[in-house]
Amino acid sequence: MQEIVDQLAATIRAAAASNVPLRIRSGGTKDFYGQQDKGRDVAPEGILDPTAFAGIVDYEPTELVVTARTGTPLAQLETELNGRGQMLAFEPPHFGAGATLGGCIAAGLSGPRRASAGAVRDFVLGVRMLDGRGDDLSFGGRVMKNVAGYDIPRLMAGSLGTLGLLLEVSLKVLPLPAEERTLRLSMNEAVAIETMNRWAGKPLPVSATCFCEGELTVRLSGATSAVRAARAVLGGEEIVENSSFWKSIREQVHPFFRSGKQLWRLSIKSTTAPLSLPGKQLIEWGGAVRWLSVDAEMDNDAVETLVRKTAKEAGGHATLFRSRTPAAAVFHPLPPAMMNIHRQLKEKFDPMRIFNRGRLYPEL
Ligand SMILES: Cc1cc2nc3c(=O)[nH]c(=O)nc-3n(C[C@H](O)[C@H](O)[C@H](O)COP(=O)(O)OP(=O)(O)OC[C@H]3O[C@@H](n4cnc5c(N)ncnc54)[C@H](O)[C@@H]3O)c2cc1C
Repeated sequence: MQEIVDQLAATIRAAAASNVPLRIRSGGTKDFYGQQDKGRDVAPEGILDPTAFAGIVDYEPTELVVTARTGTPLAQLETELNGRGQMLAFEPPHFGAGATLGGCIAAGLSGPRRASAGAVRDFVLGVRMLDGRGDDLSFGGRVMKNVAGYDIPRLMAGSLGTLGLLLEVSLKVLPLPAEERTLRLSMNEAVAIETMNRWAGKPLPVSATCFCEGELTVRLSGATSAVRAARAVLGGEEIVENSSFWKSIREQVHPFFRSGKQLWRLSIKSTTAPLSLPGKQLIEWGGAVRWLSVDAEMDNDAVETLVRKTAKEAGGHATLFRSRTPAAAVFHPLPPAMMNIHRQLKEKFDPMRIFNRGRLYPEL
């Protein structure tokens, strides 16, 4: 396995020496996500593929910690954890059979359980990575190093490969819930938002919520007695295809996610009243995420201006999550102070700017 690391490090050193951009790509299941990076057209030798660097390095179920190489297929890791009655509590989307642990961490995306369990970054304990000089670095976990006071392992979640090539990741895992049930209740959007927020303030074992087309779907997870008691309080109709429904939301194969030309994700204050926007909406995470599907007839620029303004007014930001046409800006423009921090981090980790140029923000 060390030969693979040496080979990857040699490629990085050569690229840094000649200022040639590299594109980090494993399973390619999240190619659609992020800015069209300038390294996207690189020659095959410019693609840095860590999929051969795979396998679980260390797994101690009693310690609730797993360390795996980033080329490990996400499905394989989850099967292994499942076999020991454990899970990745942030329920990461795969978006395809080839999803790897590295892509999962770099994309920083979490699934339906995020509002109750936490996001990817909350579960990353340590990383081993190659930086833009080809140096093999470890942060968190057993070896602790620090760059200007940042929690480096967490920083890697959502960095979209712009700071380095992740080699190994240590993650906190959690036990699978003893019982899981899904209920469906009919109501309008305003009532659904109020209901999700009210439930969030109560000791209910709610592990996921989803509102779409007049129906609020809620998942209860936990101890059998707690789930049964909550089921009696909340009412509604129990749905049988429990796990397939949540998988369809997590993997975006539910018809809502395929209904438009552009899919926007607004991450906002959960109590925000129904948003007046064109297109269809699906609400997740107790009201904190509003997915917006926009159809073909709409003017892209006008939609972008409206969506970004609406998200900002609602205390959050908007991401153009999927687009079938080339788009200018995917992520919400950052305030100058935040962009300055991004620049400093890029300078520290990848001074020659060889990794995934422009994938997160065009200027990085
Ligand atoms: C249910 C819930 C609970 C939360 N609890 C807390 C909390 O306890 N403490 C706290 O500090 N925050 C909390 N937040 C806020 C959350 O951590 C921030 O909104 C975070 O910046 C975005 O994380 P995300 O998981 O929504 O998006 P991610 O999936 O992590 O990000 C998607 C992409 O959006 C971009 N992006 C992320 N943030 C911004 C931004 N601010 N501006 C522009 N682009 C951005 C990134 O490029 C990233 O790649 C919570 C959010 C939710 C939805």
